[in-house]
This record gives sequence, C-alpha cells and structure tokens, in this order.
Amino acid sequence: MAKGIRIAIDGYSSTGKSTIAKALADRLDYRYIDTGAMYRAITFWALKNGFIGNEQFKSDELVESLQAVKLDFKHSAKHAKPVIFLNGENIEDNIRGAEVASNVSHVAKIAEVRKFLVKQQQAIAAAGAVVMDGRDIASVVMPDAELKIFMTADPNIRAQRRFEELERLGQAMDFKDVMANLKERDHLDTSRKESPLIQTEDALVLDNSNMTREEQLNLAEAWAKDRMV
Ligand code: C5P
Repeated sequence: MAKGIRIAIDGYSSTGKSTIAKALADRLDYRYIDTGAMYRAITFWALKNGFIGNEQFKSDELVESLQAVKLDFKHSAKHAKPVIFLNGENIEDNIRGAEVASNVSHVAKIAEVRKFLVKQQQAIAAAGAVVMDGRDIASVVMPDAELKIFMTADPNIRAQRRFEELERLGQAMDFKDVMANLKERDHLDTSRKESPLIQTEDALVLDNSNMTREEQLNLAEAWAKDRMV
C-alpha cells in the first residue's frame, strides 16, 4: 500500500488550523502533528524553569537546557486527540492559556529552538501519511509536501474564536486584549527573521471567515484526494 501523502497546513493564529488538520487526519487515517503545541511546550518549559520572567528572557540558558527536553505526542482519551508530553508528562492543559500564548512567539524566534523542533518534525514527516500544522510547514519543514494549505480568516472572527476558547478554559480576557495578543502574534510570526509565516506560491488558500467546519473539511479532503492520484 502507498504510504500516503504529506499535508502541510500553515496560517495565522486562531484560524482553526488545528481543528481542521486533526479532523482531516482522522478522515484519512493519517498521523496528526500540531507543531504549535511543540513551540508552546518549549515555552511552558522556559516559564517553569525561570528562563522567562521578571522582564527577563534568558534565551541562552533555554537553548542549553533543550538537551534535557523530550517531546512526544500520545493519544489522550480525555482530549480525544494526540496531545503533547514533555519528559513523560501530559502538558496539554498547561499550554493553551494566556501566559504561554503571550510568550510563545518570542520563544519561536530563537533559531536554535526552531532547529531543535524542525529536526523532530522532519523525522516524523519522512514516514508520510501525515497532516502537520504550523507556520513554516510548507516553507521549511516539508517544502516538498504533496499538498499545502494556507489558512486565513478575518481578524475579528479569529479574535472572537480565541475569546471564546479562553472563556472555555476559564481564563476570560477583555476582547480588546485578545485582539491585541492576536495582532502581536501575527506581527511577530510574519516579521521574524527565522522562518517567518509566509504563504508559499504552491499553497491553496482556505479563507474560512464564512465557512462551516464541515465545508472546510470537505474542501480540504477533496484537495487531498486530488493529490493522491
Ligand atoms: O499554532 P499555535 O497558535 O498553537 O502556535 C503557537 C505559536 O508557535 C505561534 O504563534 C508561533 O509563534 C509559533 N509557531 C511557529 N512555527 C510553527 C508553529 C507554531 O513559529 N510551525
């Protein structure tokens, strides 16, 4: 049996990439890798070990400590999806809150952090039959992916989605603060020197401002099937 294609999904924050990537992987019976969770895990590690805090960012210490970091994805029945484990501990519930969100784009700017994570992502991608979502998947991690999707949506709609997610997590924030964090992340992700978020020329654009989840999924699945023949 053919090993299955590689699908790269990139896009702005809170476009619903992970939801679609995971659902698409389920439909195709492919592996799903949320690379944002990997950057969030390193950020959680940095906060936990005091590399970030008191207006300081000890990035050299963070980089040195990476040798002690082991990340894995394992299925979680509670979350009904593969979730990230840091040195054997399920940290899914620790990485979605505001503290990690407001620091992650700074951690993701560090070249050594990216190198450390991209190597692991490429090792997973080599097996094929994978849906991977992030910011640099089409451009850096899997430049030869059979299907590349770039997801985008109106910033107001994205901020509303994030606002609702934070409410669900019991971390309600003012809408204007949510919007400010989203804009800051967009800015940092698109303007950074190391692997900025870009729309590659060969990517298909999925603007989901006015699409249901089912419509997005059907479209992505049709694109994937098209690339399998
Ligand atoms: O996708 P998610 O919002 O969880 O990603 C969190 C952050 O991790 C992004 O804002 C971005 O700064 C960083 N990231 C990245 N490259 C990736 C995935 C995420 O720089 N491939």
